Amino acid sequence: PTAADTVTRFAPSPTGFLHIGGARTALFNWLYARHNGGKFLLRIEDTDRARSTPEATEAILDGMRWLGLDWDGDAISQFGNRDRHQAVAEDMVARGTAYRCYATKEEIDAFREAAKAEGRPPLFRSPWRDADPATAPDAPYVVRLKAPRDGETVIRDRVQGDVTFRNETLDDLILLRSDGTPTYLLAVVVDDHDMGVTHVIRGDDHLTNAARQALIYAGNGWDVPEFAHIPLIHGPDGAKLSKRHGALGVDAYRDMGYPAEAMRNYLARLGWSHGDDEFFTTEQAIGWFDLAQVGKSPARFDFKKLENLSGQH
Ligand code: GLU
Repeated sequence: PTAADTVTRFAPSPTGFLHIGGARTALFNWLYARHNGGKFLLRIEDTDRARSTPEATEAILDGMRWLGLDWDGDAISQFGNRDRHQAVAEDMVARGTAYRCYATKEEIDAFREAAKAEGRPPLFRSPWRDADPATAPDAPYVVRLKAPRDGETVIRDRVQGDVTFRNETLDDLILLRSDGTPTYLLAVVVDDHDMGVTHVIRGDDHLTNAARQALIYAGNGWDVPEFAHIPLIHGPDGAKLSKRHGALGVDAYRDMGYPAEAMRNYLARLGWSHGDDEFFTTEQAIGWFDLAQVGKSPARFDFKKLENLSGQH
C-alpha cells in the first residue's frame, strides 16, 4: 500500500460534548490522513442506546466543524451496522473461533467465587467452549470469542512499541449479548475492517482493548491495522485531565473567542512535537506530522500556552 491508501478514523461515543482529549485524537487522525493524502473517516459509536444522544452527536460534529477537521464521506452510525455485527459473530461461531455460551449469571458468579477461593484468576472458563453443539439447550446465549489460552499477543504500537499480553490473562470475551446486540469490542473491529481503516490512532486507555481486538481480527482471518496509542492528557498537577482542571469541551474555547487555528496548534502540541517549534500553521503541521514524534509520556494541559498561541495566530 502507498501513503495515499492511508485511512484513519475518529470514533467518538456520543455521550457528551467534544472534549479536549477527543479533539486531540481527532486532530492527530486528521493530520496523519492529510499528511499522507489519504482519508479521514468519522464514525459515531452510538451502539450503546442508553448513553448516546443526538444532541451529543451534534455537539461533536459542531466541534469538529469549528476546528476545521473535515471528514471524508458521511459520518457513519455504528448502530446502523448492527446486523453486520451480528452476522460476523455468527460467522465466527461457524468457523469455530467463537461459541455460544449458555452459562447463567449464577453459574458464572459461582465459578468466579470458587476461582477466588482457590487463588486462581477470576476469569470465567465456560464449559460451553468445547461442548458438543448438539447438547445445546433451547435457551438464551451469548456469543464468546474462543481466545487462545497459551502464548502471547503482541501489539506492535507506533507510539508504545511492542506491548506483550499473556493470552492466559485474556478471557473469552463476549461478542454478542443475549439480546443479540454487539459489544463495543466486536463493533469496533468489524467497522474498522469494513471501513478499510489502516491506522487506529486513539488514547492509550484503549491499549488493553487492542490486544482483545487483535484476537477478534485473528478469529476472522483479517489483518490488524497499525495501532498508535497516544498517552492521555494530564492537568498541570499531573493528574488525568478532568473537569476540575477547567473547561473540557472545545466549544467553551470557541465561545471564549479563541481562534480555531490557535486551538489546532495548541492541540497538536499536546503529545506531538516538531523540534522546538511551539507556533506553527495548520499547513505546516500537515506537512510535518509523523507518528514517530508522538511522545510516550502524558502531555500537560497548560492554559497559558493556549493564551500565548492565540496572541500569535
Ligand atoms: N468510542 C470509543 C471512545 O470514544 C473509541 C473507540 C476507538 O477509538 O477505538 O472512547
